[in-house]
Amino acid sequence: MIVMKFGGSSLESARAIRQAALIVKEHLDRKPVVVVSAIGKTTDRLLEAFHYAMRGNWYSARQHVEALRRMHCNETRGLLGPRSEPFLRDSIAPLFRELQEIFTESSEGPAFTPQVQDRVLSYGERLSSLIVAEAFRHAGIHAAQVDARKIIVTGEQFTNAAPLYWETYTRLRRTVALLTNDRVVVMGGFIGATIHGATTTLGRGGSDLTASLVGAGLAADEIQIWTDVDGMLSCDPRVLAGGYRLREISYEEAREMARLGAEVLQPASVEPALRQRIPIVIRNSRRPEVEGTRVISKVQTAPGMVKCLTCKPGMAVVHLRVKNRGMLSSITDGLADLFAREHIAVDLIQAHERGISFAVENWAGLSEILRKVDETVDITVEEERAAIWLVGEGLDHGTSTLARCLAALRTTDVRLTAQGSASLSLGFAIREEALPAAMDALHREFFACPDPTVFAVPESRRVADLQAVQDGPMGRRGSMQPAAQGGF
Ligand code: ADP
Ligand code: ASP
Ligand code: MG
Repeated sequence: MIVMKFGGSSLESARAIRQAALIVKEHLDRKPVVVVSAIGKTTDRLLEAFHYAMRGNWYSARQHVEALRRMHCNETRGLLGPRSEPFLRDSIAPLFRELQEIFTESSEGPAFTPQVQDRVLSYGERLSSLIVAEAFRHAGIHAAQVDARKIIVTGEQFTNAAPLYWETYTRLRRTVALLTNDRVVVMGGFIGATIHGATTTLGRGGSDLTASLVGAGLAADEIQIWTDVDGMLSCDPRVLAGGYRLREISYEEAREMARLGAEVLQPASVEPALRQRIPIVIRNSRRPEVEGTRVISKVQTAPGMVKCLTCKPGMAVVHLRVKNRGMLSSITDGLADLFAREHIAVDLIQAHERGISFAVENWAGLSEILRKVDETVDITVEEERAAIWLVGEGLDHGTSTLARCLAALRTTDVRLTAQGSASLSLGFAIREEALPAAMDALHREFFACPDPTVFAVPESRRVADLQAVQDGPMGRRGSMQPAAQGGF
């Protein structure tokens, strides 16, 4: 059996859902369990509605929900035609009524807690799983919708709940495994419930984690992540067009890429698959003929090869200077507690003689919260910074990679160079305005002649590279434009 997860952009319209049904039909012999995200940008809209309601702006909150209701009804009508009306009346309209009621209850009741936020956000995947299952039936697939909140059991960390593996796997084997014998099970990703039945969510992008949990719980042969790109690319196409598709990467590389900004995979989703060595395959639902990227245990590449560039804008670089060196360890402990409590990810940490520097996501209250650690510390916050990482197994400070980076970015102010975990990445901070040019320069430096056994390189590029090698280094420079994302 296999798991097939479809992300929001792969379900954004009636047309996209029909395409997903076609892809599933192609795989029926492998007994798929289908995990779906909310349709399009539904989760973002629900979150906006929740924030409006929280600030007392009921009008905008209701408008948002009404726009979502119209969008879901329109796409369902496009999918099911005249059959849609009874389905909309009996299955979809009651969910929208419930959703409006939560807002009404909350306006009169206690507060907009994280628990209420999770209830609100859960409607995205509850709606999409019902609609996709009905669309599959319409397309001749024997489909059964299962409420993921009855299967995925989590702790009580609302908005970012951790799965309880044992309980979840037991329920998967007890309930879902039986259904897969003669039906395609369709489940919403991202949502779960506590052991007491309170609705939770697994953090943004959490449908990938659901897919991995379902795959591990049912000992699947493969977990397919169907999305809007050809696979894991050498850089985020929204930052730089023309990245190359990686053919295979290790679980560790995938987790590091995801952790450092390649959001095509949620970082936590790697773990359940890794524990049972189930391959994850990232594929493009708009171009199912492309093989995608396989995430597996071991890849046969020389250590130290840069496979992916990732970046995060909107960072701040913080320098803490202590008056007395003896205070340093108590301050770093205080900082670690503070960031863990506030769920703030700290990167590129550098300790020096009189203090410590690091990069952190920038937000309005940052300086104020840093003051709480110790009033006597001298704090400088450099805003409008971005972080860049090079990711690949065996990358470390000792190699010439950093020297190549600095040479490629010679006109850029590079700060806080640091090695990531387990020699999987090298990172540094720059000014945010320099980010596009820096990514372009680095991509040219490290992906001028991509190894065709590691990357899917178009035939036209291979010929150009061969020509460039024959022409010598100057010729090679001339052919460095990365190719546009194509069907390789
Ligand atoms: P889905 O809705 O299918 O879950 P996401 O938006 O979560 O899709 O993830 C897909 C997006 O991840 C792509 O559209 C792309 O912009 C982004 N992305 C970031 N880094 C990379 C990368 N290195 N390779 C591929 N995609 C990336
Ligand atoms: N719908 C959720 C989100 O947008 C989960 C997911 O798409 O993976 O974060
Ligand atoms: Mg995603």
